[in-house]
Amino acid sequence: MQLPPLAADAGIRCLPIPTPFAVGRVNCYLIEDEPLTLLDTGPNSGKALDELEQALAAHGRRVEDIELVVISHQHMDHLGLAGIVARRSGAEVAALEALAPWAASYGQNMASDDAFAEAIMARHGIPEDVRHALRAVAGGFRAWGAPVTVTRMLNDGDELVLRDRRLRVLHRPGHSPSDTVFVDEERRLALGGDHLIKHISSNPLIARPLDGDSVRRPQALVTYLDSMARTRELDLDLVLAGHGEPVDDHRALIDERFRLHARRADKIHALIAEQPRTAYELAHDMWGNIAVTQAYLTLSEVLGHTDLLLNDGRVREVEGDDGVFRFEAT
Ligand SMILES: [Zn+2]
Repeated sequence: MQLPPLAADAGIRCLPIPTPFAVGRVNCYLIEDEPLTLLDTGPNSGKALDELEQALAAHGRRVEDIELVVISHQHMDHLGLAGIVARRSGAEVAALEALAPWAASYGQNMASDDAFAEAIMARHGIPEDVRHALRAVAGGFRAWGAPVTVTRMLNDGDELVLRDRRLRVLHRPGHSPSDTVFVDEERRLALGGDHLIKHISSNPLIARPLDGDSVRRPQALVTYLDSMARTRELDLDLVLAGHGEPVDDHRALIDERFRLHARRADKIHALIAEQPRTAYELAHDMWGNIAVTQAYLTLSEVLGHTDLLLNDGRVREVEGDDGVFRFEAT
């Protein structure tokens, strides 16, 4: 993909790498600077590695030339090849400090994340057969990621300094617990990972917190809206996204997302006001029959909105004798 002059003139190249996911290709970004930097790597597959090599070659580079790998967040389409790229090139790997232990023990943590997700699904009415099918799917998908050792720890507010630019590190959780946005304040340009995507609203996936504290269900959408509100304050002319086209008006996009989520919360409230429902029933009422692979995404989406309603005191969550939670209007 040809990037707008603001990014291209800053030596940033977009390398779209195939993924097995519905979202399609993931945009990795080569930053021609010192150190030579690759932001996100694509999933862990031979095909992705082949295409990464070809995409680098088109810019006269090899995997071995990469000196710094930067990870935007924990999803496997973004970090899957990071370990291989780092091993072949000797590159440093920079990521949010809180993500480092998770990434180092990727397999174990994915298993724990999946178990956490399954408990949430059971609590919110997803039937056993769907959970069982999803368990198999998740197990199969896990190999698209791989462990990676983070060698440069980043924290919110840090600066990642390259020869020709400074990138402000901003932790913007919501789509995942580790979403990190890198802002070139001088050029009013950001590398946003999946924090903002132009053509789809990013799923606020409910994920096990990075510190492993799984006592309470995280309010992923509430967190995400808060993160977007903070991003809205930034003066930016361009956000390079992890999927699809760059975002050239982040404020308009964020406002559109705010409206979407407010509308959706009202719609879900209306359903709950008719009669108490589980989150699974709400997902079904909103989107009809849902493909098994989408069951957790849609559940996360519904729970995000019931969280908004809970926080506003418009609904309450009541546990039934079956151990399944239902939402009822207050
Ligand atoms: Zn993602």
